[in-house]
Amino acid sequence: MLGAADESSVRVAVRIRPQLAKEKIEGCHICTSVTPGEPQVFLGKDKAFTFDYVFDIDSQQEQIYTQCIEKLIEGCFEGYNATVFAYGQTGAGKTYTMGTGFDVNIMEEEQGIISRAVRHLFKSIDEKKTSAIKNGLPPPEFKVNAQFLELYNEEVLDLFDTTRDIDAKNKKSNIRIHEDSTGGIYTVGVTTRTVNTEPEMMQCLKLGALSRTTASTQMNVQSSRSHAIFTIHVCQTRVCPQTDAENATDNKLISESSPMNEFETLTAKFHFVDLAGSERLKRTGATGERAKEGISINCGLLALGNVISALGDKSKRATHVPYRDSKLTILLQDSLGGNSQTIMIACVSPSDRDFMETLNTLKYANRARNI
Ligand code: ADP
Ligand code: MG
Repeated sequence: MLGAADESSVRVAVRIRPQLAKEKIEGCHICTSVTPGEPQVFLGKDKAFTFDYVFDIDSQQEQIYTQCIEKLIEGCFEGYNATVFAYGQTGAGKTYTMGTGFDVNIMEEEQGIISRAVRHLFKSIDEKKTSAIKNGLPPPEFKVNAQFLELYNEEVLDLFDTTRDIDAKNKKSNIRIHEDSTGGIYTVGVTTRTVNTEPEMMQCLKLGALSRTTASTQMNVQSSRSHAIFTIHVCQTRVCPQTDAENATDNKLISESSPMNEFETLTAKFHFVDLAGSERLKRTGATGERAKEGISINCGLLALGNVISALGDKSKRATHVPYRDSKLTILLQDSLGGNSQTIMIACVSPSDRDFMETLNTLKYANRARNI
């Protein structure tokens, strides 16, 4: 389904979660609808939006993965970066869809995007090794590592850092973001975990997710006010793929006649971003810390919207993409645009009491897609 991805590297999906028991009990009505087989959402009587993909109330985790994400993981093996965002108001299903709040007891079919991507990644690594050996070639070598960051008030926190002083809520973190001469973004002071297997990676995710909730409880803030970024780096060293002319001859013959294989190293980054809740702060109560939080969250989401929209606008892409406007977009700079695939999954509630927030989310997502 991502076949047409060459035209644009930004895709937008909308997912409508089912009504929660509470919403049913309180008599909320469903105000969204989808025409089967069409990527279009209707909100209320007269609002319609078209996206690259639309997943209605009854959609399954598996569907989201196979239709939107699977292809991106394959791209990692060819050195393409990818970024998946979950956007939407608090309670709309971002964490559920992304699988950032990883829970070991979760049922297989309820596993979110990250678990599925990790399983796919390690399975493909095994397959690539086996297939090289079968063809008489040296197997490719892989280095996989992970980072887990949280962005809160334009401050970068390290969810893998077990020594982090979570009581010191105003403590500046030691993490620095740098840009190398080729425009690549790298961070200094971030814990990087080297991971060799799927269970190891899931363990890392679990510890990070736990650290996120613990920290937010201790700091008396809601994790819905921060962005969580889970990043997987894949570094692959493999025998250079043969050109078409070489391919025409027998593989075996080549490796015998040229014992010195040429190797190449490919690297790719995969970001899974569970964004802060997009809801507007209510005027009442939004003073002091809360108001400050509100401003910086909106700053990240606003900057992200502007970057994605500039990337989609061919005239702007050549001139200016405003990455510098927030920590979020600076961190993700080399994974948005360029040789990167981006997908934004806008999560919405179907209930009428969330109508305005749903409308805001659909508008934001629509702008990201207006290309
Ligand atoms: P968010 O991260 O956007 O604040 P959550 O992912 O925590 O929202 O979802 C809020 C609640 O809705 C959770 O109890 C979650 O389990 C449930 N939920 C969200 N999406 C779905 C879905 N597609 N199917 C079933 N339950 C869902
Ligand atoms: Mg959440």
